[in-house]
Amino acid sequence: PHAPPALLADHLVKRYGSLKALDSVSFQASEGEAVGVVGPNGAGKTTLFGALAGTFPVNSGSIQFRGTEITGMSAQERNMMGIARTYQVPRPFRGMTIFENVLVALRAGGGAEGAVAVEQAAELLERTGLLPLANTPAGAVGLLDLKRLEVARALATRPQVILLDEIGGGLTEAELVKLIALIRGLSEAGLTIVWIEHILHALLKVVTRLVCMAEGRVLAEGDPQEVMADPAVRSAYFGAD
Ligand code: ATP
Repeated sequence: PHAPPALLADHLVKRYGSLKALDSVSFQASEGEAVGVVGPNGAGKTTLFGALAGTFPVNSGSIQFRGTEITGMSAQERNMMGIARTYQVPRPFRGMTIFENVLVALRAGGGAEGAVAVEQAAELLERTGLLPLANTPAGAVGLLDLKRLEVARALATRPQVILLDEIGGGLTEAELVKLIALIRGLSEAGLTIVWIEHILHALLKVVTRLVCMAEGRVLAEGDPQEVMADPAVRSAYFGAD
């Protein structure tokens, strides 16, 4: 018998008025897999993340986490079960230090208190390369470090699945190399990763499967090279004729 997938979404529909942001989207990520999600602006990628994370209810369809039905659960409940996400625009507590931001995330995640929390926060900073900036206010660090902080905050809830929403955006090539190393490390440690990214070359250094969405639907999925070579994908994603 196969283990159930880490995440399984079945025929998700999400409507905004007459617009179907998700028009019967089925999706799955196996345990420990790194999946990329691509597609042109407005394809429904961020809406898919919101549906998976429980940011809002879907109109129909179902979502399972490791075989457990989670469709009706709140974002908080899903987070407690093991689904974490990062946001396109990092929103740290800018007046707090990097260390304090991670502590807050640990506490909010119902995790450790006191000395144990301090130790876990230090581990998370170490893991994300933020230890040298522990005592720097979050408002004073650069974009790469804010992205690292997003990852550290997500990891604070000890997730099995992490949803990365365009985490590469705005970084220089040199910074991207560092971010990719961090994300590969998470993948190698066994975390299931679902990564929405416009920066394809970064995505393709990590993911082993690609899902391409357009207009609320899945256009193609599978081997990244094959998906990118798919004529429907090329026309939707690159606007080729
Ligand atoms: P991008 O790459 O630009 O982030 P995306 O693939 O993430 O795009 P979504 O943000 O999921 O796309 O949007 C899908 C569609 O749903 C778009 O047409 C968008 O305008 C619409 N949409 C998203 N959120 C809302 C909302 N809260 N209210 C109304 N329409 C929305």
